[in-house]
Amino acid sequence: MSLGTIGHVAVLGAGNMGHGIAEVTAMAGYDVTMRDIKAEFVEDGYESIAWSLEKLEEKDRLDDPADEILARIETTTDLEAAVSDADLVIEAAPENLELKHDIFSDLERYTDAETLLATNTSSLPISEIAAVVDTPERVLGLHFFNPPVKMDLVEVIYGEETSDDAAEAGSEWVESIDKTPIYVRKDVRGFVVNTIVGPFIGEPAWMVSEEEATIRQADAAMVHQRGYPMGPFELGDLTGIDVGYHVRTEAGDEIPPIMEEKVEAEALGRKTGTGYYDYEDGDGADYERGDGEGFDTLRVEARMINRAAYLVGEDVATPEAVDTGVQLGLGFPEGICRRADKLGLERVLEKLETLHEATGDDRFEPHPYLEELVDAGNTGEDAGAGFYEYDADGDLDSYHHLNVALEDGVLRVELDRPSRMNALSSDLLEEIDELFSTVDTDDVRCVTIEGAGDRAFSAGADIGGFAGAEPTDLMDVTPAFETVNDFPRPVLAKIDGFCLGGGLELALACDLRLATERSTFGAPEITLGLIPGGGGTQRLLRLLGETRAKELVFRGNHIDADRAEDWGLINRAVDREEFGETVDEFVDDLRSGPPIGLEVAKKVMNEGKDASLDAAIAMESQGFGLLASTEDVLEGTTAFAEDREPEFEGQ
Ligand code: NAD
Repeated sequence: MSLGTIGHVAVLGAGNMGHGIAEVTAMAGYDVTMRDIKAEFVEDGYESIAWSLEKLEEKDRLDDPADEILARIETTTDLEAAVSDADLVIEAAPENLELKHDIFSDLERYTDAETLLATNTSSLPISEIAAVVDTPERVLGLHFFNPPVKMDLVEVIYGEETSDDAAEAGSEWVESIDKTPIYVRKDVRGFVVNTIVGPFIGEPAWMVSEEEATIRQADAAMVHQRGYPMGPFELGDLTGIDVGYHVRTEAGDEIPPIMEEKVEAEALGRKTGTGYYDYEDGDGADYERGDGEGFDTLRVEARMINRAAYLVGEDVATPEAVDTGVQLGLGFPEGICRRADKLGLERVLEKLETLHEATGDDRFEPHPYLEELVDAGNTGEDAGAGFYEYDADGDLDSYHHLNVALEDGVLRVELDRPSRMNALSSDLLEEIDELFSTVDTDDVRCVTIEGAGDRAFSAGADIGGFAGAEPTDLMDVTPAFETVNDFPRPVLAKIDGFCLGGGLELALACDLRLATERSTFGAPEITLGLIPGGGGTQRLLRLLGETRAKELVFRGNHIDADRAEDWGLINRAVDREEFGETVDEFVDDLRSGPPIGLEVAKKVMNEGKDASLDAAIAMESQGFGLLASTEDVLEGTTAFAEDREPEFEGQ
């Protein structure tokens, strides 16, 4: 089978997921046909898309005008008409195997063998859905998360018969709509993300049922000590307690009594007004920071890590895929495999073994892969290897939170944590420090830093990472900002979206800052009772003067890009459409400029700022003298005399 290029996409189902999938597909430029069984359902879906596109347009989040995107979407109730021209069909009908069988049997009839057939099922085996198709090698899972417009992750799932061609075509298509695919190489229940979230919600429910913890204690500890975006019970209330209940029943798992009680009482969470918390008469999830004292967070994390060991050990997914999955799909502050390596796998294994011995419950039985890693001495970061490999400094061997590309002398760095609006975690800062202190400057003429995704340069420091840290740890501020500030080549921050807190400080450590007009800037640390910690107070003071710097730091407010330009916080605020062009103009100048000249200029300007005028001028003349003997100056002056562009070699 050769799968053709994907041009036309059909989405079956215009419900929650279907309309969202159709929307993101059209946003990426594809023609889409959205099909449902009744005209009113398709219309509802279409209206939801129109509404959502309008909101996105208001926030300047679309690359094309909303009406142009909407015009790419056709609707129909006729299945044959919807799919006969499609290169990719994505089924997003209700979660019912018989219904999906009917749909896929019809697809067999109405599509040719080159059409890729995907299902968005959350819990049915792909292989079973594919069983009714004569060519099951072209059937795969494309599991989007709700809502598709916001959620970056798509799990690309292999059924037993799915061909590599089909999975790769699916994965490439996911990338083409600006989402992040992860491969799930075996058709396991829960795929990757739901496999990990199971114990996150389930284990605390057991602990509360067994009166070893309280609901507020569990939620407070997981959020405030371990940095998860939501507590397990808070999350259960949000997704619906019945949903987790059914997933467990289907899987034949035992149900924690507290979950059972809630389902019986029809207290299913937010949707019914009460669940673990009271949303009608109470304040909802009202746990407080201090409530978490004494909760055994390792017990919950050990069970998630055991599930990760199962996924990796059974070749369902790589550690990278698992970690991307939980960060993008669940908003975890860091990957679970990465976290395991930091905790130390021997501690994790010991926890599981102790609980297994004490309770005899299978859910604590360590997966053989975890045992294997520990037996081989691969217990994590301190040992040099665990789920990942580490180098001698304990740093990750490759970058996980940065995308780095070096092309024609331009080092392009992307902060790659879009699910957390590129918040600066300690791992990310370590990687920045590592990159800027080890990259070979001979190869680099200038650097750009930008944020991944379409929302932020960086929305701040990852506060989750502060949880549980000692004050002295926090005072020991990362060298990353200084490493960027001192990097001997010009560094340009490309800002599109939020540039706040730690993100602003990183931008301030750069030499130049260009921003789109929709960007916002601020130092909100004071609202947390903190102050900017990455040189922010001092750099703002030098850049803006006391009046404006104190306004930003004391009030913690945001300012827009026009004001930021007006204040001299950024070099230019530009319309989003012209942004790329403006950046290119700057980069061209920096790239073709004389490397030593720029290095000296940066150094004397950075250091001169804090010196007396006399000392600074002395530094300048020293630099001037040093440059006079370089070949670049000879080239510059000759080119000037010959009326041509100079070609600087950095010598
Ligand atoms: P939904 O009930 O909101 O939408 C399903 C739509 O499919 C309805 O409009 C229904 O009329 C339509 N439909 C029924 N039969 C159809 C057919 N033969 N052809 C085309 N359309 C048909 O459900 P949903 O939440 O969008 O879920 C759809 C699928 O996505 C399910 O398999 C679900 O497991 C999966 N999923 C859901 C979520 C989520 O959070 N809701 C997340 C990921 C995956």
